[in-house]
Amino acid sequence: MQRICVFCGSSPGAHPDYIQAARELGTRLARARLTLVYGGGRVGMMGQLAQAALAAGGQVIGVIPRQMVQLNVAFSELSDLRVVDTMHARKALMAQLADGFIALPGGLGTLEEFFEVLTWAQLGMHAKPCGLLNVRGYYDRLLEFLEVALAEQFIGPTHRNLWLVADDVDSLLAMFESYQPRQVDKAAWALALSRNPAP
Ligand code: AMP
Repeated sequence: MQRICVFCGSSPGAHPDYIQAARELGTRLARARLTLVYGGGRVGMMGQLAQAALAAGGQVIGVIPRQMVQLNVAFSELSDLRVVDTMHARKALMAQLADGFIALPGGLGTLEEFFEVLTWAQLGMHAKPCGLLNVRGYYDRLLEFLEVALAEQFIGPTHRNLWLVADDVDSLLAMFESYQPRQVDKAAWALALSRNPAP
């Protein structure tokens, strides 16, 4: 692994633990010589994540749509800031550059980005680790809901291991190091269920 893409809030969140986790992750990635790939913002947790990585001597690649640069939310001091035309182009480039994906707490943008890379993983379009950093139990209810989706057979049992979860940075990075991608085949599973629907 050389590069990790991090999705996180463009807001700081309601508790200082969130910013602290963003800074800790940035620092740990830099110390592990892992390049940070992220959305290129200078605000909220995103800005703190990048600042901490740079302060610890790390490499940072920001990928941001032109429209957001015009809104003055880009981290313009980044030596590697890649300006793209659309949000879709941004996500495609971040996914292509990264060897793994981490979501810190965040809002709609963070959830959407993380679920997109998970969706691509369940279709076998990539085999890169995807992890949630569950700071302050922020994602507990989401994880409970994913259990509902599994029980209701909208997510296949072999896809359960697609999302790694840890409460702290070191545990999550250790999971990434030992990650063994499993064969997943969402299309075959969905086809089999369609032939034999639940009674
Ligand atoms: P949210 O979780 O809704 O704050 O959205 C954060 C995610 O969406 C980040 O991972 C970014 O890729 C993107 N994003 C949303 N707002 C911004 C912003 N102001 N600057 C840069 N990226 C943003």
